[in-house]
Formats: sequence, C-alpha cells, structure tokens
Amino acid sequence: MERVELKLESGEVHVYLDHGEVRQWPCPECGKTCRQYDHQPERRWRHLDTCQYQTILHAEPPRSECGEHGVRVVKLSWAEPGSHFTALFEALAIEWLKASSQSAAAKLLGLSWDEMHGIMERAVERGLKRRQAEPVQQIGVDEKAFRKGHNYLTLVNDLSRGRVLYVAEERKQSSLDGFWATLTREQSQSIAAVAMDMWDPFIASVEAHVPDAAKKIVFDKFHVAQHLGEAVDQVRRKETKTLKAAGDDTLTGTRYDWLRNRAAMEPRDRREFDTLRHSGLKTARAWALKETAMALYDYVYERPCRKHFRWWQNWALRSRLKPMIAVARMLKRRFENIITYLRHRITNAASESINAKIQWVKYTARGFRNKQNFIHAIYFHCGGLDLAPLSSTK
Ligand SMILES: [Zn+2]
Repeated sequence: MERVELKLESGEVHVYLDHGEVRQWPCPECGKTCRQYDHQPERRWRHLDTCQYQTILHAEPPRSECGEHGVRVVKLSWAEPGSHFTALFEALAIEWLKASSQSAAAKLLGLSWDEMHGIMERAVERGLKRRQAEPVQQIGVDEKAFRKGHNYLTLVNDLSRGRVLYVAEERKQSSLDGFWATLTREQSQSIAAVAMDMWDPFIASVEAHVPDAAKKIVFDKFHVAQHLGEAVDQVRRKETKTLKAAGDDTLTGTRYDWLRNRAAMEPRDRREFDTLRHSGLKTARAWALKETAMALYDYVYERPCRKHFRWWQNWALRSRLKPMIAVARMLKRRFENIITYLRHRITNAASESINAKIQWVKYTARGFRNKQNFIHAIYFHCGGLDLAPLSSTK
C-alpha cells in the first residue's frame, strides 16, 4: 500500500495501492513467470466501506509479457477482470441481492441499478461456468408468463435437486432445443423422466433429443387437472345462463365451489356443496367426471388404471356435455404419456419451491427492463449456483 487519503467532505476513503519492488508476474493465461511490460493507467475499485465511508482502491495494474501469450494485464488478487468492485465488495453485494430486491440492495450500497445488475450478471456467469456435469434424472419443463400478454419464458428444472437448469425466451421448440446443447452425452443419457405440459413444441423437442422419449414424457398431473377444470367451468357458465334466463339462481355465485377441493371445505360449505352436486345439474355431472378422471392418479398398477380410463372415457363421451367430450378426446390422444405417471411419479409441483422463488423475483422485478434481466435473476435466485467471486471457492 502506498498511501491512504480520507476525504471528509465527500465521505470517502481513497486507498492507493502499489506493488513495491516486484518486477515479474505470472502470465494470466499460462501462469509462466514473465517480465513486467508496463502498467495500465490508474483504475478504481469500490471496496467494503471503512466505517461509514465509501472506500475506493486505486492502482495501476501491471501488464506481463509472455513469450506465448503476449502482453496481458496480470490477475489481480482483489478483483475480477473488468469489474469496478473488489471481490469482497461483490461478495457483500451478492449477499444483499439474495435477501432483498435489486433496487433495495442498490440503494443500500449506493450503486446504480445497472451496477447492481452487473454484479448479479457476473455472478450468474461464474456460477454457470462452475456448474458440474452431474447426472440429471428427473427434469420438469415449464413455462412462465413474463409481464402481460403472450410473453413467455421456457424453464427446465432439475426436479430432484429443486433448481433451475435452464431458462430461455419464448416457448417454442427452439426455446427448449437450446437446453440439450448444455448437457454432456452422459447427462442426456441419464434423463429418466420429463414432466411437462401437453404442449406440442416442447414434446417435439424432447422427442428429438431424449432417447426413448415416449416412455419418459409424463404430462403434468396439474396440467391435466387444469384442462378438466376449465371444461367443468365452461359447462357451468353455459348452464348458469340457461337457468338464469328461466329465473333460476341455483348456480349463480358457485364458480369457486366447483374449483375448490371438496375435502378441504368447512363442514357447512361441504353440506351445501353436496346438495348442489347431487342436484342432477349438468355442472354436477361435469364435476363428477373431472373427479373420476383424476382418480387415475391413485392407481399403482397400469392394468386397472387403463381399465378405469376406458370406462371413464365412455362415460365422458356419452355425457352430451361438449366441453367434457372434447377434453376426453384430448386425454385419450395423450393417454400413453399420462399413464407414465405411474412409473415415474413426477409432477412439476416438485418445482413448487422454485415457483415460489420465481414469483418473488417477479414481484421484486420493478425496474427489469427486459427479459434478459429477468432470466439472470431467475438463475441467480433459483439456479443453485456457486455465485461467490474469485478465489473464495478455489
Ligand atoms: Zn502465457
């Protein structure tokens, strides 16, 4: 260290670094000891505060001259190449980012939004580079809406480890295709099951990249429930109108009763609902169809499960309820990758903790100007990455 200046008026401590008598440096590329070539002009790094004072390091980084790699800036012990912050400062910023929104952390540390995001972005790049090629046995392919409208992200989750492996823009086949390129051959072969929505672009991508995909794709249970639930709702809406026109209010205001879990209702609500569902209404029949279809997931063995489905499907197709007939046809077409659930027992709900975190990221995402920012934040908070700067992990 050469000298320290305290600037009371601006509340800053300036520390000027000097490397003394050293005239030889390891090449940053190959580590060979080389002669010093020259110095870069003075640069500044924000360091951890000294008491309440912002602390700035100043130095002229030496450049080495390697016979093989030429003139290079030497590796600095306190900062990563290109950063305006010391590694210790970045480590602190990363801890704050984990615990609060980006704008709050920036405000607290006296950084601009862009500086804060730069620290996050570099942390993610490091973490992704450090990630080991571990086996991934059960993965979930999911989509997330970003802002309003048809603005989506594609996510690949590691269901066993509860972390996000991959995020891409849109929800096209090409969005998911990018994921497979990040895997080693062994990793691709280690994939035993893929939970996903019944979404053709994703199906096409899995089929093109995962060997024996037909046995491994499991359409998500909650996605199936959602399709059935929407069909029940269509029946209810239509019937409510018809009844109302005849002056009958039986169904008015019951929308949520049909969507709720009957077992979780208060006893009084349940009694009321039971009267409704035994009323001979079309909506009650549609609801019973939905409940019976979901009983598929209670089976342990395939044979009785198939039998149950055939029986259910005949009932649904004869129900004269158009939305239920449509959903029964769809489930029939997709059935071979619904019943795979019995073998693999996976759903995207295993990524529930990931989803909760992503909700939080979205909630604190004010100031995210584009999707790429949002993608960095998802990797940062949900990627299970080693984000620490520099040598702290070596
Ligand atoms: Zn070299």
